[in-house]
Amino acid sequence: MVEENNPVNTVLERIRTEVRPLADGRVADYIPELAHADPNIFGIAAISAHGRRYVAGDVEGPFSVQSISKPFVYAIAVEEHGFDTVHDHVGAEPSGQPFNAISLDEHGRPANPMINAGAIVTTSLIKGEDRFERIRSMLSACAGRELSVNEDVYRSEAEAGHGNRALGHLCLAGGALVGPVEEAVQDYFRQCAVEVTVTDLAVMAATLASGGVNPVTGKRVLNRRTARHTLSIMAGCGMYDRAGEWGLRVGIPAKSGVSGGILAAAPGAFGIGVFSPPLDHAGNSVRGVAALERLSEDYDLHMLQLPTEPPSPLHSVSCHGGSLGVHLRGEIDFLAAEQVVSRLAAAVEDARITSVVVELERVSGFSDAARALLAAELTDLADAGIEATVSDPRGVQGAN
Ligand code: GLU
Repeated sequence: MVEENNPVNTVLERIRTEVRPLADGRVADYIPELAHADPNIFGIAAISAHGRRYVAGDVEGPFSVQSISKPFVYAIAVEEHGFDTVHDHVGAEPSGQPFNAISLDEHGRPANPMINAGAIVTTSLIKGEDRFERIRSMLSACAGRELSVNEDVYRSEAEAGHGNRALGHLCLAGGALVGPVEEAVQDYFRQCAVEVTVTDLAVMAATLASGGVNPVTGKRVLNRRTARHTLSIMAGCGMYDRAGEWGLRVGIPAKSGVSGGILAAAPGAFGIGVFSPPLDHAGNSVRGVAALERLSEDYDLHMLQLPTEPPSPLHSVSCHGGSLGVHLRGEIDFLAAEQVVSRLAAAVEDARITSVVVELERVSGFSDAARALLAAELTDLADAGIEATVSDPRGVQGAN
């Protein structure tokens, strides 16, 4: 659903108007087919964690996803092999070098899965003859529609991509890459040539930002922990050799691609896609970077921006006779549970209290750490002779 006249679209449109005059940067041409891109195209799309869509500018024209496929291929490899095995083959450190650098660590592993060498390795880790189809279908599930390959872009890179072949062979020599190099490189070229729109990028970002659930289709595409790993890698390594400055100025886990797209995933808030082909020296879209800087500022999207005061988990506390009722609300994470536990512990000091009821009707979710902390406190209350029960009519405590 596109929200037509609303304040978010107005902000996106204003940012687009401010950023549009920037005329620096060059359209990538080392993949010949990319050189045909219109440098004036510029679109921004955002999908909220609730699946609402906001857009400004050119958001429907297709372009090849290029390196923005890398986080998703990494995610598939993690789901297939587990985190530790994947990182036996590829590191997790920003390389501080361009995307196509020969950046191998002392174990022969590429520095991270967001540079070409690392993505060719993660591609090689994905098992089975239908490997590319699995990658295409994961990208599609994250975008919420069937995506396909732009064959001209694929052929153009397959003919010109000898640097990537060389990286593949070096990774094979060092033991990081598994299986035939040419097959991995071909599937890598194909994944880079998958066509998307800015809106697709925003939905894909929103899927990562929502813990692996596509907020538009409502389907779980990745497990929660994989989504977190992927965001972590993007936060450290997603913006080529500008990762540090990006963290300072924008602070949203992101991945950019040489066709001019940037995918940015603000956890729990927004998935954002921006597309404008001219690139800066690091290979990031000039207008894309400027637009995301402004958006992060205007909407407080920096991941290290803290709330002035964390929301209280206590909806109300009542005391009738010797019974204490503690009504909780919202998301109970470790910090919230710590507040609840300290309130419950005070009951032990109060000789009038003989029973405690913790009421969860208004609670939306429980983290594992919070669950463990609350359970330990209930045991302590029972040991102190106070009858402690939890009222959980919606079963939130067991859900994850
Ligand atoms: N297909 C491109 C390459 O391997 C992707 C690079 C990028 O977008 O960073 O050179």
